[in-house]
Amino acid sequence: MTETLEVGGLVFEVRRSVRRKTLGLTVDRGGELVVHAPAKADAVELARWTNRKLLWVHRKLALKEEAVPKLQAPEYVSGEAFCYLGRRFGLKVVEKQERPLHFDGNRFMLRRDARPAEEHFRRWYVETGTDWIRRRVERLSSRAASNPPRIEVRDLGFRWGSCGKNDILYFNWKVLQLPVRLVDYIILHELVHLREGHHGPEFWKALGRAVPDWQKRKDALARKAKDYLVFGLMV
Ligand SMILES: [Zn+2]
Repeated sequence: MTETLEVGGLVFEVRRSVRRKTLGLTVDRGGELVVHAPAKADAVELARWTNRKLLWVHRKLALKEEAVPKLQAPEYVSGEAFCYLGRRFGLKVVEKQERPLHFDGNRFMLRRDARPAEEHFRRWYVETGTDWIRRRVERLSSRAASNPPRIEVRDLGFRWGSCGKNDILYFNWKVLQLPVRLVDYIILHELVHLREGHHGPEFWKALGRAVPDWQKRKDALARKAKDYLVFGLMV
């Protein structure tokens, strides 16, 4: 069992080792806090020592927060990045160009007078992504034991996808920013809804057969929602 220590509202994992003579503290890449201690270190002394390090820990955690790129209401300036299927592409603002927004395979070129450009980006994602999602749905249908349905890509506000009447599946154009494995989760979730139109135990069981690690993907999606669903929204 893992030994933990709670100090100043933070939880630390305690790793004891017979080889260790002194106390040490690390902040892992994911933000996990670990106290390294000699095998026989006294718990009270451990807590007291950790308490003295709190300021340093908070500073470290704050730096990590800043390092995480956050996608929020774009400003449409050169150097900004936009995601397509999990890959980041830079934006360059140009003075002259026939189309307001152009993607050359490596970066987006936006004409200066076309800003703010939410509408141009939305159109680009819908045009570029509809075909991609359609092909992906066809490929994944058999995994969900569903027939390939009709699909439509449009703005769905704060929802990733929905299952409409007459077996039409709707996908938010914003899903096209996500990595493929998360788009797959959204697609398979909706495909399973064609047979199980609810979120009851039968639905999750069927989803588990189609995506064994669905829980992981669902959690990852929830973490990303706030960064990707606000696209173009002035917040
Ligand atoms: Zn659902």
